[in-house]
Amino acid sequence: MVRQACEKPALILLLCVGVAAAQNVRPLEEQKLLRAIYKEMVEHNTSYTTGQTTAAAEAVAKRLRDAGFPAADIHVDGAAPHKKNVVVRYRGTGVKKPLLLLAHLDVVEAKRSDWEHDPFVLREEGGYFYGRGTGDDKAQGSIWLANLIQYRKEGWKPERDLIVAWTADEEGWGKYNGVSWLLKNHRDWIDAEFCVNEGGWGEMSQGRKLMNQVQVSEKTFVTFRLEVRNPGGHSSVPVKENAIYRLARAIEKVSQLEFPAKLNDVTRGYFESMANLYDGSLRQDLMNVTRGDAAAIARVAAHSAAWNATLRTTCVTTMLDGGHAENALPQTAGVLVNCRVLPEESAASVQEALRRAVADDQVRIGYYREEPTQGPASPMREDVMAATRKVTASMWPGVPVVPIMVMGGTDGMFLRLAGIPTYGVMGLFLDRDDLRFHGSNERIGVKEFYEAQEFLYRLVKQLAQ
Ligand SMILES: [Zn+2]
Repeated sequence: MVRQACEKPALILLLCVGVAAAQNVRPLEEQKLLRAIYKEMVEHNTSYTTGQTTAAAEAVAKRLRDAGFPAADIHVDGAAPHKKNVVVRYRGTGVKKPLLLLAHLDVVEAKRSDWEHDPFVLREEGGYFYGRGTGDDKAQGSIWLANLIQYRKEGWKPERDLIVAWTADEEGWGKYNGVSWLLKNHRDWIDAEFCVNEGGWGEMSQGRKLMNQVQVSEKTFVTFRLEVRNPGGHSSVPVKENAIYRLARAIEKVSQLEFPAKLNDVTRGYFESMANLYDGSLRQDLMNVTRGDAAAIARVAAHSAAWNATLRTTCVTTMLDGGHAENALPQTAGVLVNCRVLPEESAASVQEALRRAVADDQVRIGYYREEPTQGPASPMREDVMAATRKVTASMWPGVPVVPIMVMGGTDGMFLRLAGIPTYGVMGLFLDRDDLRFHGSNERIGVKEFYEAQEFLYRLVKQLAQ
């Protein structure tokens, strides 16, 4: 119908421009369904410490049953009564192994007083959707559901089963983490050849789409506690040895510690793509970074904190405590140092680097939690990259697809460790200077939201057909 209209001249020309843009979204009816799902999901308070995921999981299950999915293919269960996950299997021909589509139901806490409006009410204003989880990760979670219902309506029979898992407690990776629980207790529900997850999005600047990212690896999150203990005493008779002074000297040394820059296949590909987006000396520097040029690396690292964090392991102090009374010499002083470790490096080597930097055996340096588990990078599957490039080119011609390593962590780590390669692809474009995930007044663009629906609709068809 669209094509016929475009064959006619004059007035139709305008329509065609409108129609061309509209091809990047699903039909209105599907958009409406998506919006209703999104509203419902955002309005469940699933904050990972004060909320619960079970009601949201049950709401998803209900929509699936109402859409005709057999009850036997839907599982609602989890590590605790209030921390349930929901998993559904959409049956294909079974020629190929299943594709897992993942999204987390939980969100980071949101204090009403920090927000302009209630974070647990979906609000559309000025071209944005506002609410906790609008970006992380309820957009993708809602899209998986809306698209799955649509595939079923169409009677699409993919070569792979599609498994969608909406899970608990990705944020904080606590004891109720849904992906860990599923891997341990019901691996058969989610076992797949590979997985598409959050973690890679589209980068935009002032409305211009710069790149569509595929997250292939991630840094390891590890926190150390540096602690000094002293006998203490009365503050009216101070002695030279003081836990806080000693800790302060150690902190100063941590602040000076810089880990060596290291590139891997993913980050090299990333900087090559970055070079194409810039001109002049910055472009040259970005190219030279991929060749290991030390001066270029220093300039690029200084140019952007994110680029610096892509180039090397980083450690930073985040919390501080010490002393027990106003009028007593401190007996304990401690600081947390949060490190984001390159996939090629180990947490133990970072601990050793901290030890060498601090160079004081009175300062104990231990893991704040247990020793972290480190996941491998996913192999660069050509089918995933090719499908992403194809769909990206069909929707946003000229926008490059860029493999990335993320500084944060996702549930993809558990899946990679379990042998299920995981790719973060969302097709959701965000302004790189306005990232509000985990912050107040979290928002994403309305247009970008519906485009992501279309993108993921097409991507899953490519990957599972
Ligand atoms: Zn997330």
